[in-house]
Amino acid sequence: MRLSRYYLPLLKETPAEAQIASHRLMLRAGMIRQEGAGIYAWLPLGFRVLKKIEQIVREEQDRAGAVEMLMPTIQSADLWRESGRYDAYGKEMLRITDRADREMLYGPTNEEMITEIFRAGVRSYKDLPKLLYHIQWKFRDEIRPRFGIMRGREFLMKDAYSFDIDETAARKSYNKMFVSYLRTFSRMGLKAIPMRAETGPIGGDLSHEFIILAETGESAVFCDQGLINMAVPPKTTDFEGDLQPVIDQFTSLYAATDEMHDEGEFNSRVKEGDRLSARGIEVGHIFFFGEKYSKPMKAVVAGPDGGEVPVQMGSYGVGVSRLLGAIIEAHHDEAGCKWPTSVAPFHVGLINMRSGDGPCEAVCEKIYAALEAAGVEVLYDDTPARGGEKFARMDLIGLPYQITIGPRGLEAGEAEVKSRADGQKSSIALESVVADIA
Ligand code: ATP
Ligand code: MG
Ligand code: MG
Ligand code: MG
Repeated sequence: MRLSRYYLPLLKETPAEAQIASHRLMLRAGMIRQEGAGIYAWLPLGFRVLKKIEQIVREEQDRAGAVEMLMPTIQSADLWRESGRYDAYGKEMLRITDRADREMLYGPTNEEMITEIFRAGVRSYKDLPKLLYHIQWKFRDEIRPRFGIMRGREFLMKDAYSFDIDETAARKSYNKMFVSYLRTFSRMGLKAIPMRAETGPIGGDLSHEFIILAETGESAVFCDQGLINMAVPPKTTDFEGDLQPVIDQFTSLYAATDEMHDEGEFNSRVKEGDRLSARGIEVGHIFFFGEKYSKPMKAVVAGPDGGEVPVQMGSYGVGVSRLLGAIIEAHHDEAGCKWPTSVAPFHVGLINMRSGDGPCEAVCEKIYAALEAAGVEVLYDDTPARGGEKFARMDLIGLPYQITIGPRGLEAGEAEVKSRADGQKSSIALESVVADIA
């Protein structure tokens, strides 16, 4: 991509309304634009990162055996009356009336709709388990939308739903999502800690929030230090095999959100030096809720003995758009973002230090073409701006590598390659630059 043709509206000033680094940087780097309270347009650069995150989430859902589909954003109020949540949901739900006076809503989540879809198509326990997901925009009329896309009103969520014949089978589905989440967040350069979370009226121990530790996080959390660097299950994990040992390992150490925190247990289970009381960002939440929707909505299957039984359900959310903010909170410095390669909007930025200079331009064009041919995502700064401005711009948008071509380097037959993560610079022979990066 040539920067001259791209749309990258950078802000020079730090926007006054942005209180945390990720919000500031997303606005300054031209990734998002606010269109209303908690409502954002995804500008080209931000949209690329959003798509990368979405794709990692998708790959790890698929790997775990979940099946993708797509449900609409607009739902009918009647569906929510069946579960009793239409009135209970309160002001967070955006309610809409169509021209025929039908009551509709912009979905804040999809338990009701997926239950309706499931009950229309599944009759027997032999068709279980089912594990379905979609990645779709949600709307929640948050009282206090803030921190940019971290707490938006419109936001992108991955939500999966499991249907099983009994609690033992449901636990297997839960475990698949637990492991899938560990892998998902780790692939984005995040250390997400699964923490015991509130389960609501049905109780049980099957609810975990996945939390990224960050000073600017909205949740107070308590955990054992040992969880921070616990090894994440590999790509080769057999999701149809027994995952319980992995779950046991991660839940063997204390970790709880403040609603579930028990100070006495914390102090007795964790030795003093390992006690971490911190703030965190909720990036995912998995939840087993049994018959909560299947019973009132009559999602039943014929059991082994012929009788009808309500299915055991769970739901599993990931804040896809919130993750952008969480990743920036974890990877930035004064100068800007420092994207992990897996989610970077482009892999490399190519800087022509002297635009208008024939030899510099010729070499840049050649490297640009070679990088594209090698399948490397490159943003080529072919604009007439000065070198200093180009460097600052590349640092701000935070691509993993910068290749700089200038007259002095050319004389020596070299390009300068900088790694954004650690700031290391090296001179590389022009003919090896593409191979070095690709
Ligand atoms: P929070 O406690 O932050 O309000 P929640 O517990 O209400 O989140 P869930 O219903 O568990 O959210 O939804 C699943 C995931 O969706 C959350 O873990 C979070 O990552 C994301 N999410 C929820 N609300 C928002 C929001 N307003 N903006 C962006 N992402 C959100
Ligand atoms: Mg909420
Ligand atoms: Mg929450
Ligand atoms: Mg939650």
